[in-house]
Amino acid sequence: MVNKPAFPPASNFIRQIVETDLAAGKYREVVTRFTPEPNGHLHFGHAKSICLNFLLPQEYGGRCHLRFDDTNPTKEEQEYVDAIREAVHWLGFQWEPHEHYASDYFERLYQFAQALIERGQAYVDSQSADEMRASRGTLTEPGRDSPYRARSVTENQQLFGEMREGKHADGAHVLRAKIDMRSPNINLRDPVMYRIRHAHHHRTGDKWCIYPTYDWAHGTSDCIEGVTHSICTLEFEDHRPLYDWFNQRVAEAGFFSPPLSRQIEMARLNLTYVVLSKRRLIQLVEEKHVSGWDDPRMPTLAGGRRRGYTPGGFRTFAERIGVSKAHQVIEFSILEDCMREDLNELAPRRMAVLDPVKLVIDNYPADREDMLQLPNHPQKPEWGKRDAPFARELWIEREDFQETPEKGYFRLYPGNDVRLRFGYVVKCTGMKDGVVRATYYPDSRSGTPTADKYKVKGNIHWVSARHAHAADVRLYDRLFTVAEPGAEHDFLADINPRSMTAVRSQLEPSLGAAKAEERFQFERHGYFVRDRDGGFNRTVTLRDSWKK
Ligand code: ATP
Ligand code: MG
Repeated sequence: MVNKPAFPPASNFIRQIVETDLAAGKYREVVTRFTPEPNGHLHFGHAKSICLNFLLPQEYGGRCHLRFDDTNPTKEEQEYVDAIREAVHWLGFQWEPHEHYASDYFERLYQFAQALIERGQAYVDSQSADEMRASRGTLTEPGRDSPYRARSVTENQQLFGEMREGKHADGAHVLRAKIDMRSPNINLRDPVMYRIRHAHHHRTGDKWCIYPTYDWAHGTSDCIEGVTHSICTLEFEDHRPLYDWFNQRVAEAGFFSPPLSRQIEMARLNLTYVVLSKRRLIQLVEEKHVSGWDDPRMPTLAGGRRRGYTPGGFRTFAERIGVSKAHQVIEFSILEDCMREDLNELAPRRMAVLDPVKLVIDNYPADREDMLQLPNHPQKPEWGKRDAPFARELWIEREDFQETPEKGYFRLYPGNDVRLRFGYVVKCTGMKDGVVRATYYPDSRSGTPTADKYKVKGNIHWVSARHAHAADVRLYDRLFTVAEPGAEHDFLADINPRSMTAVRSQLEPSLGAAKAEERFQFERHGYFVRDRDGGFNRTVTLRDSWKK
């Protein structure tokens, strides 16, 4: 389902760069990529990056690749690869046939590295990790050349070959780029290109025991794929000179031809009331503060999906928050507003009693039932109507009755007339043994010519007790009680102990047939989604209940 944008796309600095590059003829099409590391599940921050990377080529012509950044052998797992593919598809994006893996390029990267060695632009360093750290310098002091920096090309070739063949232990040597140990940019002080790691890789198995670093693999992979605009987060701004250095050297060696890929940095998404760090998300799952990766309270795409969030809502959100170069913290309520807007368009209306109390209509015959037709969406008559039986015994919300009404209360209290939504007007006669009692006006049925003579202020929803579908409904609240979890102490101390309330509810019978992931508006309560376990999860309330 394609979400129609609420307003035309706003210009931003990334669109401007793309437009300038296209106008100048630098690139003929826009090729972006989304590069998750398969060591965790995707979260709401990734959704921003996914929408941006996939929508730019849709807008300007081109394509987006999905590339798994699997350069790190020990932390990555197939389970994450599968979950990431599913989440990106769920958001509504396609990348096929451009599913790539950094590990697919290991052989080519190795050749590139050999070329750099041959050209005197890379060398094998045999200092210990501590020695390397000590000679690296600081932000204010230059680094010092490694005693191995002057090794001959032949010796470097020999050692690098041995590293690959497994002749050396982890940590014995590294391959470094020969750039400048005195550069004011620490990233250019002879950065490491390869480390020895005798470790099994989820795709290449035991073929390799040297693994490329992120900086070395990332830009070269972009160029291999013909990526034009390589969008990343701000932490990589200082890595851009290195990104360009590597690609230019490999191009000079004859492996790439211009135009080379261009790195663009933007601010990462930070959201109030959630955590978006993989480490913290993993901790929440492993320490069982939540039921799993797809717990509806988790800010993961799997969690959002089970919560009832929509792909269209995420797209609207990504467009609305835009992209910027400045650090940004976005209010969680903006995401919720985007979900509400989308759900208002796509969720049929239903009646659901979440805190049920019985209402008995004493003058309505026990063996009778009216079949009422209720509109599925008030603004969309084309969505049609559904049947809802009306009978003598109904479930209503406990809060829709007050023995002694407070000021301004228009719902059920002894002597007051109220309309049962889409049904009859009833007069409340009181409460006995925990059951609310009333009588009904037979000529007040909604939609009949005589209905209009009843002017009532209260209009409440109901469900026939005999026909109701009983279900567990989970009312979710924010997972953290503070806007910035962990700002003052361990983030776990900010967990909201009341982030989930389960209620046994009585729903209109048509909801019994709802399929998993079907979404509804429960009138007066909010948007809900059917869970795979048969219950319903509240996605979001109708209004922002957090606004004071
Ligand atoms: P780490 O590198 O610590 O494992 P990560 O959050 O960078 O975590 P990746 O899987 O590497 O996770 O991220 C994939 C892509 O998503 C990257 O291009 C990254 O820039 C982008 N991304 C990650 N987090 C955010 C965020 N909060 N906002 C926007 N983009 C993000
Ligand atoms: Mg990363």
